[in-house]
Amino acid sequence: MPKVISRSTVASSQDARPTESSTAALRVYYCICGEFILVIDKVLSALPRRRTDNAIIVRAQDSEAGKAHVFKLNAVPGDSLIIERQDGGHERQFRQNCPRCTLPVAYQPTPGLVKSSEFFYILPGALTQMQGQVPSDAFDGEVLTQ
Ligand SMILES: [Zn+2]
Repeated sequence: MPKVISRSTVASSQDARPTESSTAALRVYYCICGEFILVIDKVLSALPRRRTDNAIIVRAQDSEAGKAHVFKLNAVPGDSLIIERQDGGHERQFRQNCPRCTLPVAYQPTPGLVKSSEFFYILPGALTQMQGQVPSDAFDGEVLTQ
């Protein structure tokens, strides 16, 4: 059986703060090429990070441990990689790439839609925050509940 690397990180994450009104302010993040990548209900710097690679942990599904973030990821599926950890464990990563410059910006542990995994991970340094407004089409086809 492969080791589940993210399990310990998940248990220690601090992202469950149900008292906070998290949808009050949506943040917008861009690829370094300027492409709109992510709109999310929380500043990324306030989210927990993985110990293994310092990637930012974003909860994509509700569970007993916490509620999913409200977010929209504008990315295209990239390569799938097998990462070898220092402790000998292996981890499968399905990359999400910037649709314009194709740089990897995030990854998830399962293939398919980003919300098909309990978490996805934003690569450290991949996104920047700029002054701007949420694109009007960011939530097209999705119901944004408060
Ligand atoms: Zn880009």
